[in-house]
Amino acid sequence: MRLAAGALRAWRQRFDFGGRDVAAWFPGHMAKGLRQMKESLRKVDCLIEVHDARIPFSGRNPAFQESLGIRPHLLVLNKMDLADLTHKAVIPLITDLVSSSQRYQRAENVEYCIMVIGVPNVGKSSLINSMRRLHLKKGKASRVGGEPGITKAVLTRIQVSERPLMYLLDTPGVLAPRIESVEAGMKLALCGAIRDHLVGEGIMADYLLYTLNKQQQFSYVERYGLGEPSDDIESVLKRVALKLGKTHKVKVLTGTGDVNVIAPDYPAAAYELLRTFRKGELGQVLLD
Ligand code: GDP
Repeated sequence: MRLAAGALRAWRQRFDFGGRDVAAWFPGHMAKGLRQMKESLRKVDCLIEVHDARIPFSGRNPAFQESLGIRPHLLVLNKMDLADLTHKAVIPLITDLVSSSQRYQRAENVEYCIMVIGVPNVGKSSLINSMRRLHLKKGKASRVGGEPGITKAVLTRIQVSERPLMYLLDTPGVLAPRIESVEAGMKLALCGAIRDHLVGEGIMADYLLYTLNKQQQFSYVERYGLGEPSDDIESVLKRVALKLGKTHKVKVLTGTGDVNVIAPDYPAAAYELLRTFRKGELGQVLLD
């Protein structure tokens, strides 16, 4: 739903992040993941970096380039459909990239080993599984989904093609140790790369509303029966909660005794808004 130009109103032009500090959003164990990845580089011909197409610039980890950049590097922007999961072009691209690069001590090796890197929850495992399905007609070898930022214990080697013989190395998601700004962190969080509770569902839902309005992406209005767009997160969440029955009874003390009133469950409504956005059901949104 887009509004005609005449219906435009004054949306917030800036978002107030309330002095938040991104440093607290970086889980310490990610440094270990990056170290493991560096140690495995000797066994690797090429890197595929997977990043979210909704944030082509924000939150790409510069440490990938700095620490792993001695190998050829292919950037896959995932979740275009969020996205076309067939990835037919990846293996020919990789084959060209590796055969036109110096393979150093791996020159004699007939098999290709490719390390798949990216921030948490960006779709690394999904990419590996879809390539495996496409080229080997085999099912899942890599676990999809789950909480962002939980380290995979080992870097698993998964076959994705017979000719050329190609293996992909699945890796733990690693965020940049210093995310460039609170806003970049917020975008990463909306895309599921940072655990929601570290950032806070309430402020994330508010930033999402701010973005949707700024981009005139008003499909939330009809979906939640709001009547008209709003820039006020509290009234939007109230409507979402009432529409989806996410309410709870609270006792209120009045002059004439206790009465039970129905109160919206704001955190549940905020979570619902985020979940719906991540499924692509609030429309296609470019956050950068
Ligand atoms: P990883 O942590 O980088 O390995 O990410 P996963 O492969 O586990 O994917 C994280 C979530 O994103 C899962 O819920 C996937 O179903 C979803 N996902 C991955 N790729 C795509 C995509 O291209 N489009 C959409 N809509 N969802 C995707």
